[in-house]
Amino acid sequence: MSDSDGKKPLGLRGGDARPGNVKQSFSHGRTKNVVVETKRKRVVVPKPGAGTKPMGAGGGAGPSKRPAGISDVEMERRLKAVRAAKAREAEDAANRIAEEKAREEERARRRAEIEAKEREEREREERAKAKAEEEARAKAEAEIAAQRAAQAKAQEASAAAASSKRQQTQSSAPAANDQTARQAPAGGPKPSSAPRKNDRDNRDAARQPKNKNQNDGRRSGKLTLNQALSGGEGGRQRSMAAMKRQQERARQKAMGQAENREKIVREVKVPEAIIVSELANRMAERVAEVVKSLMKMGMMVTQNQAIDADTAELIIEEFGHKIVRVSDADVEDVIDSVDDKQEDLRDRPPVITIMGHVDHGKTSLLDAIRNAKVVAGEAGGITQHIGAYQVKTDGGTVLSFLDTPGHAAFTSMRARGAQVTDIVVLVVAADDSVMPQTIEAIHHAKAAGVPMIVAINKCDRPAADPNKVRAELLQHEVIVEAMSGEVQDVEVSAITGQGLDQLLEAIALQSEILELKANPDRSASGAVIEAQLDVGRGPVATVLVQNGTLRKGDIFVVGEQYGKVRALIDDKGNRVDEAGPSVPVEVLGLNGTPEAGDVLNVVDTEAQAREIAEYREHAAKDKRAAAGAATTLEQLMAQAKQSENLAELPILVKTDVQGSAEAIVQAMEKIGNDEVRVRVLHHGVGAITESDIGLAEASGAPVMGFNVRANASARNAANQKGVEIRYYSVIYDLVDDVKAAASGLLSAEVRENFIGYSKIKEVFKVTGVGKVAGCLVTEGVARRSAGVRLLRDNVVIHEGTLKTLKRFKDEVKEVQSGQECGMAFENYDDIRPDDVIEIFEREEIERKLD
Ligand code: GDP
Repeated sequence: MSDSDGKKPLGLRGGDARPGNVKQSFSHGRTKNVVVETKRKRVVVPKPGAGTKPMGAGGGAGPSKRPAGISDVEMERRLKAVRAAKAREAEDAANRIAEEKAREEERARRRAEIEAKEREEREREERAKAKAEEEARAKAEAEIAAQRAAQAKAQEASAAAASSKRQQTQSSAPAANDQTARQAPAGGPKPSSAPRKNDRDNRDAARQPKNKNQNDGRRSGKLTLNQALSGGEGGRQRSMAAMKRQQERARQKAMGQAENREKIVREVKVPEAIIVSELANRMAERVAEVVKSLMKMGMMVTQNQAIDADTAELIIEEFGHKIVRVSDADVEDVIDSVDDKQEDLRDRPPVITIMGHVDHGKTSLLDAIRNAKVVAGEAGGITQHIGAYQVKTDGGTVLSFLDTPGHAAFTSMRARGAQVTDIVVLVVAADDSVMPQTIEAIHHAKAAGVPMIVAINKCDRPAADPNKVRAELLQHEVIVEAMSGEVQDVEVSAITGQGLDQLLEAIALQSEILELKANPDRSASGAVIEAQLDVGRGPVATVLVQNGTLRKGDIFVVGEQYGKVRALIDDKGNRVDEAGPSVPVEVLGLNGTPEAGDVLNVVDTEAQAREIAEYREHAAKDKRAAAGAATTLEQLMAQAKQSENLAELPILVKTDVQGSAEAIVQAMEKIGNDEVRVRVLHHGVGAITESDIGLAEASGAPVMGFNVRANASARNAANQKGVEIRYYSVIYDLVDDVKAAASGLLSAEVRENFIGYSKIKEVFKVTGVGKVAGCLVTEGVARRSAGVRLLRDNVVIHEGTLKTLKRFKDEVKEVQSGQECGMAFENYDDIRPDDVIEIFEREEIERKLD
């Protein structure tokens, strides 16, 4: 018991040696009866370091019994002192209990806080702020508490001084001294305990910073029992828990309204669609709040459902954040698009396109410049390939020429974002002057903002009248230098070579004015000029490098295709390791055939290249689907409207190379009069596929295959849907057919009919015969007398006749489907396993196009 004074501060002497009951009152109306016992044996020994003067003064063995002869007055006084001490004791106990309770509450609060922490991890920042405020407040309160403690100490010190005085004055009464001395350590201001208490106060203040009111009520210096029981009690009822609840409410309110405190405005990235919980996460808001907001907007969604970007934007705005829309297209961000620094730029050769009316001598001029003839080799005489080549002028300037078959290519490349041409050379025949396509070319060049140089061709002809050309150009706002304008004009002849050097120098001069520059020291980018599925080499694209340097081994994405440069071949057929700005090269190593005008970009990894290509493919598919739906509908309307005035003949064109497609499209555009017009719905390179048939069916169009065939599924689909497929190998035939159809002049004519297909399984070498194909007839019938075509990947490789058709050892006339046979071609040897032999016969049939 003697040691437990601190804990049980009720070990008081009840006075008068009788064990008395003291009734204590606590908060909430609790009371407690405490037995006050008399400690007989207790001897108060002043603590050596305590420095309590009164004790020292009243030291010695004070009798614990009431000494005899004490007066009533004295007794009264003593009782009074005891009562006061008791009150102080009770007060202290109340304090302690309150503190205990506070600690209990504090613990509860902490527990709640930990739970809240887990729950509200996302509001960390806000809480950090709140914490900072709390700390600031705590600090302030700690200071206040410290001040108060100091005050209390001072008061206690003065009280102690007073009591010591009193003791001194009453030193004649040793018993009184005893009493006073004894009460001092028990309930009185025990000096050594005062700092401890203050410490605790400070700690409490720091720990319970919110408990301001209560602190105010309880900690202002000394408390009376009354204060402890009434005023103090009121304070405790608005306890820390209450304060905490209030704060929590305020905080929730603040979060719900996304304001009050300075809100952190976030940039919230939103793709085309986002899951609600992910949106909440990105905003650092509660999912429940987001769902609630959505519901307010009339959208009943759960946190696991996706909402579109527009809805997300409304929500994000409501929460006071900023939306940043991102899209799948971001996969393209890896393409290096940094602008070049001025010091990295080097001069590059100009890229020239020759344009003009048909037969004014574009090809001849290109050939004359290149010193090579290509005209003779062309089927049907129309330029079928878009090539490119470089020449060097006498002055040493390198020029890159594009061999474009028409304006459509120029425009379609431009439409795809590939502005390749720097300078247009407008060819006008001096004996023919300005013609419709000349005007068209002028429009195209002007639309592209590309400077023009006029080459007045065929000046060797007697009928040549260059000045007439100049005068007529004037009418189309092309003012040549000879007419005091700024457009350079040169009189040339592709046949005699007259004026060619002047033309090249004029181009070099124009290019100097343009100050064409590029940075060779970066990842290459370029444009596809021509692309084709090459037999044996796979997909090949002629790429004009526009910036950077393309090297062997580079990984690239080009349009919807990608690949790794396996080989680079220049315009002279040489293998090269790299190609710098304005250099045209054939690129091998593609996974598919891109289209003219597609842009090539070198990227770091194959994964990136594939990702971009796949994204583009999907995007293009979606676009086509959308466009297809729209076209059909619009078209039907338009047709219904226009049927009386202008009929439209829609066609689909598939070709072996891009150049052929462009040439055909261009030719188609020219067909038609006031009554009928040909519209090419779609044109592309490669075999005719099922999707082509689908489009053709939807639009009621025939499919024109130029040196390509339909694959098996497309053939089946065409049969089922009644779509007509027509095959050609000469552009003029195709054009004539369409022309005839358009003008309703179709008549019976000899046409070819496919009678069978066979597949080459093996190739044998037979002495005297050459290569013989071991085949299986897969469809129809193989007939010795029929015409044959060799197809590789649905592209026509060879057309001719059979030298032999054998069934086992015997030469036969016919082999039926499902049977094996041997075939050899007349004058042709390049046959391979898996090639397909198409067998056709010519017969007179009624034309169907109308
Ligand atoms: P394109 O359709 O513009 O490509 O014209 P071509 O280059 O195919 O030429 C059409 C015809 O004009 C060909 O027969 C050429 O031989 C002829 N030709 C082209 N340039 C000249 C020239 O400078 N002088 C003469 N006399 N004939 C030319």
